Amino acid sequence: MKRKAFTERVELWRRLLMPEWRVALFFEEPEGNIRSHHAHGQDDWVACSGSDPTIAEARLYVKPEVLTFDADQIDRIIVHELLHPLLDRVLGHAEVLRDYVPPPVFHAYEQGRIADEEELVNRIAHVISTHGEHGESPYGTHRCKA
Ligand SMILES: [Zn+2]
Repeated sequence: MKRKAFTERVELWRRLLMPEWRVALFFEEPEGNIRSHHAHGQDDWVACSGSDPTIAEARLYVKPEVLTFDADQIDRIIVHELLHPLLDRVLGHAEVLRDYVPPPVFHAYEQGRIADEEELVNRIAHVISTHGEHGESPYGTHRCKA
């Protein structure tokens, strides 16, 4: 898949999943200490995302080798990485507890949450990318004109 086609897939899934968000796409590794999520483990990741849920902004980082994957895998990776920013908004509420909980306790919570989040995101991404790519949203994400 060419970068242009990949970018169009990201835009399609963005419109379906998170039309109020902006998504910046990079075909490179992220720099610095962003909060990121990895599609295939910490060491052999091929894509990750970071976000600032307070302004509905996501960053999607993709290694160029992803472009050689088949279309189904690509859709699954894109959906997976776009679901994380949406969950960041929900799960980020626990951040207010960070300063009030002993660090080992918060760390244990985070480790459990991250593992459970990956499992959930993988399941949802599989279902959505398998059944949801026919041009219109199957989950009622159409935005109303105010
Ligand atoms: Zn993930």
